[in-house]
Amino acid sequence: MTSDKLRWGLIGASDIAASRMIPAIRARGDDLVGVVSTDGERAQRYAADHGLGLGTTELAALLDRKDVDAVYISSTNEKHHSQAMAALASGKHVLCEKPLALTTDDANQIVAAADSAGLVLGVNHHLPGAGTHRMVQRLVRDGAIGTPLAARVAHAGLLPERLRGWRLDAAPGGGVILDITCHDASAVNAILNLRPLSVIAAAASQGPWGSTTYDAAMTVIRYDDGVLAQTHDAFTVGFAKTSLEVHGTNGSIIATDVMTQDPVGEVRLVDASGTRDVPVTDRRGLYQIILDAFGTAVAGEGRPTVTGTEGALALAVALAAQESATFGRAVDVGKAPVHPASLRPSTI
Ligand code: NDP
Repeated sequence: MTSDKLRWGLIGASDIAASRMIPAIRARGDDLVGVVSTDGERAQRYAADHGLGLGTTELAALLDRKDVDAVYISSTNEKHHSQAMAALASGKHVLCEKPLALTTDDANQIVAAADSAGLVLGVNHHLPGAGTHRMVQRLVRDGAIGTPLAARVAHAGLLPERLRGWRLDAAPGGGVILDITCHDASAVNAILNLRPLSVIAAAASQGPWGSTTYDAAMTVIRYDDGVLAQTHDAFTVGFAKTSLEVHGTNGSIIATDVMTQDPVGEVRLVDASGTRDVPVTDRRGLYQIILDAFGTAVAGEGRPTVTGTEGALALAVALAAQESATFGRAVDVGKAPVHPASLRPSTI
């Protein structure tokens, strides 16, 4: 194996692994050893469909293997914590899907376990590493818009039919806030590079699918220095483009079509001298970028695109939004330990 190439085990026979991660892992030249599923037949079928040597329901059967360097966890959200803890205890590096866990305590426990074992932990938030997002981060950091004042995120789409399962249930981990708002938080946290302090949100169940949890949410996050961020996340909007705007004392950044899983979208800078397109040179696939950074981090250089700590902070913002939407009050980030399963939509 060359230094940053990895041998992966998959935990979760998921859509995201099949549609995005398995192709990206193979494109990098990494190896795929096997998959763990809770269902024996699905494990076998998934392994056969994707050319994996092992399909099993036994987590230990994957974690005990010496030829697995790292695991990619893409099970449903309520399983991330226990599976990440088991993988780290077995000495495997972990790339975990978002949300990292369902409570901040559990997320922090995973971060601490990775730190004490000296293993790499990354969270698969795809947006902060995107070429477009890194360009926005750079413009803000270099002062292109002066002092940041506000960010606005439009991240409302129509949930594809094949994904209309657990996300629409009030079962642990369901709902648009843990699914999408937590991505927004990962992106805006990275761009502003400021501490999120408190959150106020309103949410609703809008779709025709009889969702028992929120499928639409609007959230306002208050950051240090009085900076505000506003997000609109939904599974119910069929015809909107996504966007990300950052407004400052000397200018605005308008990035369109950038809250997506593909390396697309435009970045524009508007200031007193007019409007200009900002070229985005890194158009690598978003999951490729994550895998490249993860492989390099395992080889001892650099860091994952989104670290465990950053994933835990994105989760803390999302949990605060969930609690705020449910109880109708502002919630401090990091003081939202309520398990989402115990929350139910209010009528707003
Ligand atoms: P899926 O519903 O495709 O898979 C989640 C789990 O559901 C699987 O691990 C599997 O369990 C079970 N499952 C899959 N297919 C079936 C089926 N036909 N019948 C019964 N159970 C089934 O979820 P996603 O791939 O959409 O999401 C997985 C994780 O990835 C989530 O944590 C989500 O938040 C995250 N995600 C992240 C994205 C990103 O861009 N970073 C994008 C999409 C999802 P088992 O493994 O036990 O067989």
